[in-house]
Amino acid sequence: MERILRIKMGTLEAKFEDFPDEWRLIGGRGLIAKILNKEVPPRCGPLGPENMFIVATGLLAGTNAPSCGRTSMGGKSLLTKGIKEANAGGPLSQKLDRMGIRAIIVEGYPKDEKMYYVVIDKAGVTINPADEFSGLKNYELVNRLREKHGEKPTIISIGPAGEMKMKSASVAVTDVQGKPCRHAARGGLGAVMGAKGLKAIVVDDTGAPAVEIKNRKAFNKAVKDWVAVLKEDLNLAMVSQMGTPANVGVLSSLGTMPALNYTSGSFEEASKLEGDVIAKLVLKRGGSMHACMPGCVVSCSIVYNDENGKYITSAYEYETIAMLGTNLGISDPDAVARMNRLCDEIGIDTIEVGSTLGVAAAAGKMKFGDAKKAAELIEEIGEGTEMGRTLGQGVVATAQAFNIDRIPAIKGQAMPAHDPRGTKGTGVTYCTSPMGADHTAGLTYSKLQSKEGQIEKSLRAQILCAAMDTVGYCLLALPRKPYRVYEFLAEAMNARYGVNLTKDDVMNIGGETLREELAFNKAAGFDEIHERYPRFIREEVLPPSNCVFDVEDSEMDALWDNLLVVKEEKGASSFRIYLPTTIAGPDVVYQAGKMVKRKGGNHVLIVTDSGIVETGMALKLEGILKDAGLETILFSEVEPDPPIEVIERGARVYEEVGCDCLVAIGGGSSIDTAKAIAVKVSQGGDLRRYDFMRGGLGLIKPPLPLLIAIPTTSGTGSEVTLGAVLTDKKRNNLKFVIGHPELTPKVALVDPKLTVSVPPKLTAATGIDALSHCVEGYACSFTPYNPLADAAALYGVRLVGRSLRRACSRGDDVAARFDMCMAAYHGGIAVMKGSGLAHAIGHPLTAWYHIHHGLSLAVPLLCYARINRQKCEEKFREMARMLDGSDDLEEALKRLYGDIGMPLRFRDVGVKEEDIEPLVEDVFREPALHMNPLRLKKKHVIQLMKDFY
Ligand code: NAD
Repeated sequence: MERILRIKMGTLEAKFEDFPDEWRLIGGRGLIAKILNKEVPPRCGPLGPENMFIVATGLLAGTNAPSCGRTSMGGKSLLTKGIKEANAGGPLSQKLDRMGIRAIIVEGYPKDEKMYYVVIDKAGVTINPADEFSGLKNYELVNRLREKHGEKPTIISIGPAGEMKMKSASVAVTDVQGKPCRHAARGGLGAVMGAKGLKAIVVDDTGAPAVEIKNRKAFNKAVKDWVAVLKEDLNLAMVSQMGTPANVGVLSSLGTMPALNYTSGSFEEASKLEGDVIAKLVLKRGGSMHACMPGCVVSCSIVYNDENGKYITSAYEYETIAMLGTNLGISDPDAVARMNRLCDEIGIDTIEVGSTLGVAAAAGKMKFGDAKKAAELIEEIGEGTEMGRTLGQGVVATAQAFNIDRIPAIKGQAMPAHDPRGTKGTGVTYCTSPMGADHTAGLTYSKLQSKEGQIEKSLRAQILCAAMDTVGYCLLALPRKPYRVYEFLAEAMNARYGVNLTKDDVMNIGGETLREELAFNKAAGFDEIHERYPRFIREEVLPPSNCVFDVEDSEMDALWDNLLVVKEEKGASSFRIYLPTTIAGPDVVYQAGKMVKRKGGNHVLIVTDSGIVETGMALKLEGILKDAGLETILFSEVEPDPPIEVIERGARVYEEVGCDCLVAIGGGSSIDTAKAIAVKVSQGGDLRRYDFMRGGLGLIKPPLPLLIAIPTTSGTGSEVTLGAVLTDKKRNNLKFVIGHPELTPKVALVDPKLTVSVPPKLTAATGIDALSHCVEGYACSFTPYNPLADAAALYGVRLVGRSLRRACSRGDDVAARFDMCMAAYHGGIAVMKGSGLAHAIGHPLTAWYHIHHGLSLAVPLLCYARINRQKCEEKFREMARMLDGSDDLEEALKRLYGDIGMPLRFRDVGVKEEDIEPLVEDVFREPALHMNPLRLKKKHVIQLMKDFY
């Protein structure tokens, strides 16, 4: 039996009401909107008796569906003066749902103006005086309540900020470990709860039955399939490993992470707060990653301990790191953790406080970078000193108190840690959302710095977020293609409730929630009260991207016109392939001059290495180009696994001489160097900014100079790929990728005769490189549908099987060489689908032992074939057949290795046994690992590497 619990604080009464049937498929944020529209006068005072404090569960909360346990809190906001919903993790929603409670409505306030706390358990509901808890901070309060009511209940509470009715007050919820670290933080809802005279709600579901599921079989299937999707997802795998701090490197690279009171989108010391740095620190100090609510497969919550291993906080999140860290010029992770804990104790929103302190620093009340003073000011908020009472009222009130008119807030609320100038779609969300400046209302990073198309992107993101918040699904558990969640939720809800929803219906749930919220805000005068945005985001350029927020007002005016019209695209997922104009065959190198001229080049930088110069091929090319009337300059300083420094030297030559195009002749290192020079001379700045894994793709803006690739090895396929693999010596020889469709060479001249001089060992190693691209690409489900790449992969394996042995034993066999050139080319297409464990092990092996890239992949490819054997049974069999007509891929590989002299064990390539465990740490930092067909644990990879030692 589903119910609403209504708590009347005026008379200290609680009663259950039937849950309206027409609201059956409305939960969380949507339910709050329905209740407010029905019961709360939109123009009421947020602290007055007419406003309500509402707690609402999600629609699948009591089940074991993953990531469906967010709990929404809502009411009219003190900050925005409009409708507000904020949600939090923790096991609360699960418990309420099992007790049949879909919402708690708290109304009125106690006549005696004292604080009370509510206990909900199987005996019923009691409203108890909270005098003994008055003024307590959240952790102490929870400890005292647990002494009284046991360890089992989940507790909703406010700290001193909520009791003082401060505008930045949050509502805390205990997590699975009983810590009050999960906060419904935004919009000042802690003050709304405080204004009801409510210090805490204790929820004990002991004895509550499991929720009813109409079709258990269908439900289990939907859950199982979705868990598999989540476990396969690369983005979520990164977040699982590093928590949301994984975003620090990416967003500071993209230039959207606020620094120094929103004067920059990137802080120079942000690297000290990056995800892998934090992850290492956390593990070293005995902290952990864990799920904040039961059943979550992402588990991104971080338990952060101090240097002595003592617990500080469990909610070490990107937003907090940015707002209390980089926005205040602070890069000490411990200082950020301590401030985070202070905020959790006092019960205040870290975003609002971080923004407020940024303005306080601008007003001379503290210095940027002074973590001690920042912490003192936060403490003053908790103590309610005069300064603290000003700061606790949020960024707008603080700016007004200090006569500052550059206020980083939209619709009364602090802007979160995604600067709207750098991510314009998110800016549109801040300006149009009924929630004010709130990243959880519709974050979008698609084509982030272009103003075109951002209205639709924001609208789709806002609908998605509203739908998720209404169902109770956690936004941090959305996979790379987030809209797939609609389908899962439709299936799960159909099974849970015995209904017949489609994915469009789930999307419409979001649209309906927004429509309700907009209606409330219209009646509340929300748009009349506020400017649309602060002027500075239009006028002040944001370094380093040098953008302003320039989406047209007229477009934003029309955003909601399509609210109930926009639909998600149907059908299979799309794919893209970028290919160069390709001319392949003996002696095609002689066409180089003609191709450069046809594509508009005049002054060529020839990029190569000294080995190629020694073979005479570079001079030959120079002659061909000169004969075509082109000017040339030779840059032959390329090194294997090209380091950034070499690229910078090449770029200097290009610029000094006045080149306008590049021709790379050589192996992958030469071609990659040329690609990176093209980026450096056209985009400028530090090449690390363009690291693909840090979102560098979005920063590369065409046009790039003409690039023609002439491979002389047959392995990497770099002549066809859109990426360049570079080495960062400053990051322990880390290999990183710069990628962009425009980096695909315009022309590939694939001349097998250029490869006859490759010695047998290198022929074998590069052949394994090509093979590994085909094998890992074919079996990778990272890109779910790409039949072109699949075809290239399978045929590439066939070419290797047919010709690698001959290319090694008879280097001058041009037919065999041609096959291998094509195998490499096919591998370049195949690997666009993704890679896997072999590349994840191979990259650190190169970094640690300086072995050739292809050689570094040989034994890891055997590991890959063994560990994924069951998962990829069919695909591996197909590839074994292509390779040598057998059925077993691992055995087929071993036979090939035996014939071409490739190693079968790690010891044969110089790996030390004692290095295996630390090496595996690096393996787990490789993005390729997360594309592996099978999800792996460190212990599996350690054992596997030992087996192959
Ligand atoms: P390489 O370019 O590093 O060259 C290795 C050696 O072979 C050099 O000494 C070179 O002088 C010599 N060499 C090249 N051609 C020769 C020839 N015809 N005759 C005699 N000697 C010759 O080797 P590679 O395997 O082609 O490239 C490896 C690099 O490519 C690595 O940095 C790897 O990370 C990268 N890579 C890039 C991609 C991509 O898509 N961009 C894919 C895989 C690997």
